[in-house]
Amino acid sequence: MARDKEIRIVGAGLAGLVAGINLARRGFEVRIHEGRDYMGGDLSYADSTIMDVPAIGAELGVEVEEALEPWTLTRAWAYGRKFEFGLPRGVEGFTVERGKGERSLENVLYRQALGEGVEVLLGNRLSKQEIKELPPGSIIATGLDREAFEAMDLPCRPFFCHMATGKGDPSRPSVIIYLDGFTREFGYYFQRGDAAGALVFSAQRPMTDGEKEDFKAKLAAGDGIEFDAWDDRVATWAAWPLGSWSNRRLLRGDMILAGTLAGLISPVLLFGVNGALVSGKIAAIAACDRDAALREFKRLAPLYWPQFAFRKCREYLPHAVLKPLTQAILSTYDPDSFPYAMLFTLWPPGYRYRTR
Ligand SMILES: Cc1cc2nc3c(=O)[nH]c(=O)nc-3n(C[C@H](O)[C@H](O)[C@H](O)COP(=O)(O)OP(=O)(O)OC[C@H]3O[C@@H](n4cnc5c(N)ncnc54)[C@H](O)[C@@H]3O)c2cc1C
Repeated sequence: MARDKEIRIVGAGLAGLVAGINLARRGFEVRIHEGRDYMGGDLSYADSTIMDVPAIGAELGVEVEEALEPWTLTRAWAYGRKFEFGLPRGVEGFTVERGKGERSLENVLYRQALGEGVEVLLGNRLSKQEIKELPPGSIIATGLDREAFEAMDLPCRPFFCHMATGKGDPSRPSVIIYLDGFTREFGYYFQRGDAAGALVFSAQRPMTDGEKEDFKAKLAAGDGIEFDAWDDRVATWAAWPLGSWSNRRLLRGDMILAGTLAGLISPVLLFGVNGALVSGKIAAIAACDRDAALREFKRLAPLYWPQFAFRKCREYLPHAVLKPLTQAILSTYDPDSFPYAMLFTLWPPGYRYRTR
């Protein structure tokens, strides 16, 4: 196919690759600058997310199944109390392989991008200045990288993550969430096949050794989970786009934003996979028709503000208040109840894409 239009994309992550695939199909000559010299993250792990897989295929034009494994049962530990629950009716959850593996979502999309003739320049990290000097209309899809938020002058919150991976026990639920005094964020355990991992997040400052030990003790006491090797460096370079109420932006000056940088992450559970995929498609639309893309972008995530308010409560309320509040919310959870189904089905951008 003759390529008469050129476009540059920064970041061969989820959003950048979906944008690249869609633009290549629209006749663009696409060049993606990727900072890493290999595809995927430093560590292979699994994200948990809910997703409408047929809609992703039909609306975004990418195949993602290879990277997914269904997730059904969830357990939560909230301040020492155990809760078992399923997803709301009609909602599907998956663990998503990430990182260097052949079946990781970035590698699954990378192969599709190469098949469409997208050029991906690996080991080509752009500096803040180089990002600012890109041609108008370039797509910035740099994910959680703090530097890109700074280059674009976008509000963000640094976050720190403590993580371990190892072998799992298939008899456990695939996702276990830990809410307790060790962090104002949350810790979680994922299971995918016989692989498993644990992650715990903290915003603004790294966790103290005591807080980390507390989390490890909760994993061991609640579910008998123990890992040998823990990595404190994971995501010390990272930021969430949760710096302000109005952090969702499709455009910044002449540039098009996509993925985490566009603010498409759930304020409560920090789900970002689904939003990144959908925003890649919207960024591709923006390269051709900005008004149409803006309409689509605004339609997303009507529950962002209430969720952001809930997150602010978690940030500022003392644990003595958070404990009964969190336990009360989890006790009233009912997979058939309309408000919970609403929260799950309306939040993640794109979950309702099919109903457009
Ligand atoms: C530890 C951790 C756990 C998470 N858990 C979950 C979860 O359970 N569920 C969920 O839904 N989401 C989760 N997320 C969030 C989810 O991973 C992200 O929201 C999603 O990957 C964002 O996709 P993206 O396309 O915006 O960025 P990414 O997929 O991260 O891609 C960004 C790409 O840009 C490249 N890049 C960055 N800066 C430059 C530069 N200057 N020049 C060139 N290239 C650059 C990076 O190398 C990277 O390849 C988690 C994130 C982390 C870090």
